[in-house]
Amino acid sequence: MSTVLAYLEDTYKFTDKAHVEYVANDERGYYCVLDSTVFYPQGGGQPSDIGTIEAKEVQLPITFVSFVDGDVRHYGDFSSVSLEKGEEVTLYVDEARRMQNAKAHTAGHLMYTIVESLDKNIIAVKGYHFPDGSYVEFQGSPSFYNTETFIAEVNTKISEALNLASSLEASLIMPEELAMRWSNIPHNLPPGKPLRVVTIDNLHPTPCGGTHLKSLNELKCVVVTKAKRQKGNLKISYKFE
Ligand SMILES: [Zn+2]
Repeated sequence: MSTVLAYLEDTYKFTDKAHVEYVANDERGYYCVLDSTVFYPQGGGQPSDIGTIEAKEVQLPITFVSFVDGDVRHYGDFSSVSLEKGEEVTLYVDEARRMQNAKAHTAGHLMYTIVESLDKNIIAVKGYHFPDGSYVEFQGSPSFYNTETFIAEVNTKISEALNLASSLEASLIMPEELAMRWSNIPHNLPPGKPLRVVTIDNLHPTPCGGTHLKSLNELKCVVVTKAKRQKGNLKISYKFE
């Protein structure tokens, strides 16, 4: 089976009903898999959601969530209640943590999309959108000569986008269309399957399965703090509020 990823529909949906599929364990501990979930599983450089699952009026703390072979695994201690297949449970995502993660992740999108639009020779390949030490790694040979000047230019563009209260939209697009319309994104995407992309205003869309803010209004500031070469990649660190 595959868990329905309900968090993709609405970042701001913190509570939902779902049904138990099964409980099992792996090296991380016991986990339960549901038919659908609003819990974001760790991945794509974004931390996992945490929260609670209520079953038979018992509150079960969920401490980690991961995505394995199409299933979302909710890790916790399920010893106090027996969860049967098909049983209805209520999910409560920790709101503050979800929003902090969505903020960090959205700030990362804004930063790397602007970097890619200013320097077409580099492309974002890896993100680390954790609250502390957030960064994005880029592949390619930068065309800029002076790092300080480039950082200043990126920060100016970021401020402009934030001042304009730019919109942010997640939608589905075919990879073929994406590659045709935008040359500055990876072309090795599997064809024929719709892809979820995130678009900030008139900047190029980027494929993503994370949770995002509705609007850049919710970000007070995003600032690039440093850029340096690391193992052949360019690592650009940022801060946000
Ligand atoms: Zn994203």
